[in-house]
Order: sequence, then structure tokens, then C-alpha cells
Amino acid sequence: MNNSSVDILSSKSSSKILERAFDDMISIAEEELWVSVEFIHGFNSFWCATPEEELDGYEFIGIIDIGDDLPLIEKLGALAHEVGHCLHHKHKQFSPVNDVMFSESIAWFLGYNWFFDKGIIISMHEYQNQMAHALELYRVELG
Ligand SMILES: [Zn+2]
Repeated sequence: MNNSSVDILSSKSSSKILERAFDDMISIAEEELWVSVEFIHGFNSFWCATPEEELDGYEFIGIIDIGDDLPLIEKLGALAHEVGHCLHHKHKQFSPVNDVMFSESIAWFLGYNWFFDKGIIISMHEYQNQMAHALELYRVELG
């Protein structure tokens, strides 16, 4: 994909552009990672891996829940982050590493890059703000 013609997605993008990009992100994630993207009330988003014993080769490997009350641009960021959790989960060497701050940080990194390589580019400034806010909540929670 030619990145020179790709819009950088931000809160200043039109809702039409953001909606299209979000739909593309969902399709790509569902097709390439075998996850199911669903919506839940509220502002929180989650990744939930299918338990090992329930995997039979035809099931989704996990579910991504996106908080439906998030501003649209933050839904894109949240989906990138949750995809990052999925990529971490699938990673041969790092999958067993379950330190919370490590997995939260790496998920932001991996998901962003995964979509970036597919020409879906979220404003780094806005993504970083969303990430910093989320990581701060974990830092407070973990004390
Ligand atoms: Zn997370």
C-alpha cells in the first residue's frame, strides 16, 4: 500500500473517514487474526483469549470488546491496542510473559505498528495521549 496517499487519522478527520477506517480495521483484524470484534457499553475495551482447551481449530482465538461510548478516534486506538494484546498472545517467545505493565505497553506498540504497516495510520500524538492515560490508570491500580 502506498502510504503517501494515506490520511493520518485524528479527531480532526471527518467521521466518514474515521468510520471507514474503523470498519477496515475490524475486517482486517477478524480476517487475519481470527478474532471477533464486539461492542460493549461504556468506555472500557478488552481482549479475551479463548481458553486453550476450547480451541478446536475452527473457533475464534479470542474476542475483542470495544467500549461503545468512546469517541470514534479512541475506538480506533482501543482496537489497535487490543489487537496488540492478541499479537502478544500469539507471539511464540513473549506469549508467556504476563507482567501487566509489559503487556499493556507492548500491546500499544504492536497494535499500532500492525495497522501502520497496512496503511492505517493513527495520529501518534493522539494515540500517545490515549496510551499515556491508559498506562497511568494501570500504574495507579497496581500502586
Ligand atoms: Zn490492555
